[in-house]
Amino acid sequence: MEINEKLKHLTETQIEEVVTMYMDKSIKISDILSKYNIDVKPGGLLKILPPVRTNDVCVICGEFLYKNIEARTAYSYSGEQRDRFCLNCGHKEYANNGWRRKKCDCNGCKAIEMMEYERKKNEIRKTYEKENDRIDFAELILADQIKLIYLLFNNSFHNTSQIAPMEVKENWIEYINRMIEIKAISVSPESEIEAFCEEDFPNKYYVAKVDYDVNVIFDETTLHKINNNTYFLEYSEKEELISLFKQYIYNDLIIRFEEMLEARRLQLHISENANNRFIELIDKISYTQILALCNRVAVFFSDKVLIGDMTKSVAKNAALLNVSKFYDRAVESEWTLNHAEIDYVGRELRFFIEKVLNKDITILKDVASVENLKNWSKREIDYSKRIGYAED
Ligand SMILES: [Zn+2]
Ligand SMILES: [Zn+2]
Repeated sequence: MEINEKLKHLTETQIEEVVTMYMDKSIKISDILSKYNIDVKPGGLLKILPPVRTNDVCVICGEFLYKNIEARTAYSYSGEQRDRFCLNCGHKEYANNGWRRKKCDCNGCKAIEMMEYERKKNEIRKTYEKENDRIDFAELILADQIKLIYLLFNNSFHNTSQIAPMEVKENWIEYINRMIEIKAISVSPESEIEAFCEEDFPNKYYVAKVDYDVNVIFDETTLHKINNNTYFLEYSEKEELISLFKQYIYNDLIIRFEEMLEARRLQLHISENANNRFIELIDKISYTQILALCNRVAVFFSDKVLIGDMTKSVAKNAALLNVSKFYDRAVESEWTLNHAEIDYVGRELRFFIEKVLNKDITILKDVASVENLKNWSKREIDYSKRIGYAED
């Protein structure tokens, strides 16, 4: 151990005595300095004292750990003064306290970490590396095809063979779980360690954090048509598309309605009867008209609750049914129904309209009833005309 110049005239035992005396606060530092003839100012003594050996050994090399002598006026939240270190290999044991979270980065620790990393990686590989059956895209049912394409289009890998971890948004988790269930995707054996729960490692994983391998194969023509938004119109039954479209509209409306109520500190309870009547509305009026009705109900109910005319729980149970009731009253009174703005259409509904139906989201203003939907082919609006091209 390197002994400071100013202590070189002392024996090892004398240096130990100096240390012991320094730690005894009843002894004046100036007395220690003059007794051992040490040529520093009292404030400088601590700096030249050697670290003291502790009884603990280094986990890397087995030598004893040392620690610096704590200053007489030591006052530290972090525990820095109590850090221990190995003079042989450089390993450090940090006395972490409060917010301090220091980790040793000596070569020994790095090697252990690397081994631990490799060990975990291998465990993940062993658990998830298996031959998965390939499924042809055409074999999936329409609803699943659309979910898979939604996942692929919104995925940062931008290919059809892998899905990257994603920030959880709307139905992402639900879609992923469905794809796992039908074996269209499977957890990639190359997923990051952090994507797995520490408990029961590596059998438990975070659905949105692992990578996925896609087990579905696409032929060139299919891919080309999906990219041009023509695949689903060409290969699906119109009835099936319409009923799915209704589901997407319904899901989006419920989410929007919940948001409106939530903004007013109200909740939404969905009873079967109210739900059925709400679904019927989708056949009668447009998405934007239903949205406007939802907004009126949300405002009306929150006003009632505010002035004390209604409890929050009554509002919660009655909200959905009242959308239909507001509609009935409007029809009876022959009022015209307003349209809400379509700025807040959810990602999934937008995706369905643009990628599956190859339409513009403005159709939500005029197409909503099944009857209207059935007339698509007849009253086809050519939205491609909205885009101009430079002439040669
Ligand atoms: Zn060591
Ligand atoms: Zn270390």
